[in-house]
Amino acid sequence: MTDKRRKVRCSARAGRGADAPEQKTGLQKNDVLEFKIEDLSSEGLGIGHYEGLAVFVKDTVIGDVVRAKVMSCKKNLAFARVEEILESSPDRVEPRCPIARPCGGCQIQMMDYAAQLAFKEERVRSVLSRIGGFDQETIGRVFEPVLGMEEPWRYRNKAQFPIGKDREGGIIAGFYAGRTHSIIPCEDCLLGIEENREILSIILEHMRSMQIEPYDESTGTGLVRHVFTRKADATGQIMTVLVVNGKKLPGERELCSKLQAIPGMTAIILNENTQRTNVILGKEERVLWGQPYIEDLIGDIRFRISAHSFFQVNPAQTRKLYGKALEFASLTGTERVWDLYCGIGTISLFLARSAGRVRGVEIVPEAIDDARENARLNGITNAEFFVGKAEEVVPREYGRDGEKADVIVVDPPRKGCDETLLQTMASMAPERIVYVSCDPATLARDLKFLCANGYELKRVQPCDMFGHSVHVETVVLMERVHD
Ligand code: SAH
Repeated sequence: MTDKRRKVRCSARAGRGADAPEQKTGLQKNDVLEFKIEDLSSEGLGIGHYEGLAVFVKDTVIGDVVRAKVMSCKKNLAFARVEEILESSPDRVEPRCPIARPCGGCQIQMMDYAAQLAFKEERVRSVLSRIGGFDQETIGRVFEPVLGMEEPWRYRNKAQFPIGKDREGGIIAGFYAGRTHSIIPCEDCLLGIEENREILSIILEHMRSMQIEPYDESTGTGLVRHVFTRKADATGQIMTVLVVNGKKLPGERELCSKLQAIPGMTAIILNENTQRTNVILGKEERVLWGQPYIEDLIGDIRFRISAHSFFQVNPAQTRKLYGKALEFASLTGTERVWDLYCGIGTISLFLARSAGRVRGVEIVPEAIDDARENARLNGITNAEFFVGKAEEVVPREYGRDGEKADVIVVDPPRKGCDETLLQTMASMAPERIVYVSCDPATLARDLKFLCANGYELKRVQPCDMFGHSVHVETVVLMERVHD
């Protein structure tokens, strides 16, 4: 063992320069440690302890005993890279995807699916207690087992493949290696639809035969940047979007004739993105063949989805999640409902048929255009939509005429709800608040606020929308406390 591979036992070490900064961890870069993984961070890094210090290690599972090399140390934690799994956790499985490790999209694919679900459930429980301040008795009473997927593969209805070149200059499609912009070749993500393989193979073959260059980020030259696909689960309609650094693609017609032969293909679109940016889609687009959108159903509501629209990526779990939101809302047909952070109005329209009226609020104007169009398409006349920040629109409407609500649904982004909004919601005093959350930590913080302002936690339902990733969605019912 070289001195770089020494094992460290104590915090005071000889042989360091007098001016070296004091390292409280007692660990140094390149130290090699052996320890057990006891927990997972919210980003999916395994956590072990070495002489009382937390050491974070990628690609490990709770229960693994690892030998790992320290890559960096901070005051009271360190990051290490696995050198060897000395003892495998009973929850460890062989990842199905050959590039699961470098890709970074699936942080916990090497964990058995049942163990993934247990981990997600535990994460929600733990933040409710740590951040929300709820006691174990309450959590035990309100908590429902996580809704897992029947089939945790091929569930994503949307994929975005960057196009580039390998070292030998061959044209490839794939995924960016975690936190980088180098492409790992992969024409078949196991979370995505099977048709991606054929779509990519046709496009890459076309580029090779027509000598079309992929886009090169470092120079801003070349033509094809990304291939974006989306499939509507209920109707089977597929959209293919070629994102190009220009206005045209050589041989558009020939390419379309091959792509349109794929069963389900109804939309082939050329998207123009000439900006030097990481944003995938440009503003301008041209339909090469078919429609500018695909149509999908959630329940019996039909949604028109363009390339730019936000739409949940896991249709089967979305049905379960929205079903729970509807159940928690306990609508009888007369209620005044607000759906805050409504996107293209998916939840609003899903609830509208069971409510008196629904008002949706969303910050992105184009999403509200889609929401209004989707209401019209479905003959829904009791839904109204507002563009703006929920924390501005709701206080304004409430201040105007004491706008009332019987049920408020919120589905904020990861940062959760603004406190001004929570305050206004508490003042509006709806009987029920249904909180759909994609981040348990901010959810727990907001629930704590609502519980201190007249509400009681009634039901907590985690739902797995993103199998093999660390993300967890939760839907919660809060009820107003009556004196
Ligand atoms: N409920 C929708 C979308 C949820 S995603 C669905 O299930 O499909 C969260 C949405 O909140 C996004 O559409 C985002 O644009 C919007 N958003 C983000 N900040 C907002 C704010 N301050 N006020 C209103 N909407 C906001």
